[in-house]
Amino acid sequence: MRLTAPSAGTAVLGETLADLRAEGRRERVLDMERRLRPYRLACYGVLAAALLAMTPTINGGWVWIVPLSLGLGGFAVADHFMVSSSRPAAWVAAAWGILPLLLGGAVLASGGPASPLVIWFTVPAVTLGARFDPRGTVIGSVYLTAIFLASTVLPHPSQAADERQLLIATAALIISTVILSGALANSERLHRRRSTLDPLTGLFNRNALEQRLAELHGQRSGVTEGLSHALLICDLDHFKAVNDRLGHSAGDAVLQDVAYVMRSTLRAGDSIFRVGGEEILILLPGAPRRDAVEIAERLREEVRERRPIGVTVTVSIGVAICESATVDTDDLIARADLALYAAKDAGRDAVVVAEAKV
Ligand code: GH3
Ligand code: MG
Ligand code: MG
Repeated sequence: MRLTAPSAGTAVLGETLADLRAEGRRERVLDMERRLRPYRLACYGVLAAALLAMTPTINGGWVWIVPLSLGLGGFAVADHFMVSSSRPAAWVAAAWGILPLLLGGAVLASGGPASPLVIWFTVPAVTLGARFDPRGTVIGSVYLTAIFLASTVLPHPSQAADERQLLIATAALIISTVILSGALANSERLHRRRSTLDPLTGLFNRNALEQRLAELHGQRSGVTEGLSHALLICDLDHFKAVNDRLGHSAGDAVLQDVAYVMRSTLRAGDSIFRVGGEEILILLPGAPRRDAVEIAERLREEVRERRPIGVTVTVSIGVAICESATVDTDDLIARADLALYAAKDAGRDAVVVAEAKV
């Protein structure tokens, strides 16, 4: 994904990082649901087997087939639509939200407070923390508890009083399950956020870039001492054609080699980040305009001459130099991105230096 070009009056970096985060969240939801699918089916299988074994004696007989099928159907519909949706989490929330309702119905049909199915309210509680953010988890817990009460205590208060031990124990189990599964999911999220290396190229990834930009933004640029900072956005030219011609694995090998050659061309203290498929961002601290342009040109030449796995690959580079007393990373990214577009327009395999901020 290309870093967004500036539009009048918007904070480009803010937009860009928000985009990165939103895309990361979307990918995470899709990935999790994909992985969860077989286990979800297995879980439904176990519940169905238990209900089958209980059917001769359970109140409501075979009625359970209806909610179980609706639950499965709900997830099948969500699975189908979320892939093309920009907000897959909304589909997951809808499919998840039906479950307590169906369970509440099944509990009501099979004895209310005395139903053996009451304890199954824990099942939707397990995935709550992993699927939703802390706010969603709280909303989901309230919703789950409300349906739990609505299918047990509300319709049969006196019977619920008789069964209070089971109900209290179940409510405690639901709440502890949400707390524990939420804590586990949060720790896993934190771990992911902290990981800063791109596994394919070994370069820093977007997480690392986000952290570095946050540090840099507003710092003294050193421009008065003739130092300044430069930011380069590099994008391999016609890389899709490399994949199409040689296959994705060859494309990966090219990316690895290009990353290696770029990294070894840089000076100590420069940092290099893979920000998209074939897009690389480089920060050159303390580099005045002349040095930055020289380094960008050297990078372009090294990549062209490298011929990884025998293929000629070229790179277009947009360069932005900080010319104000403090570093404005929003502005640097916006200008470097425009310069990159200009390099592509100019025929690729080119370095374009952005206009100074006026
Ligand atoms: P342009 O010169 O305009 O940048 O053309 P392009 O083909 O490089 O740009 P485009 O954005 O159309 O395609 C980028 C391609 O990069 C598409 C995708 O197949 C490839 N790509 C992205 N990430 C990876 C990756 O991790 N491995 C491989 N092998 N290819 C990747
Ligand atoms: Mg690109
Ligand atoms: Mg490209």
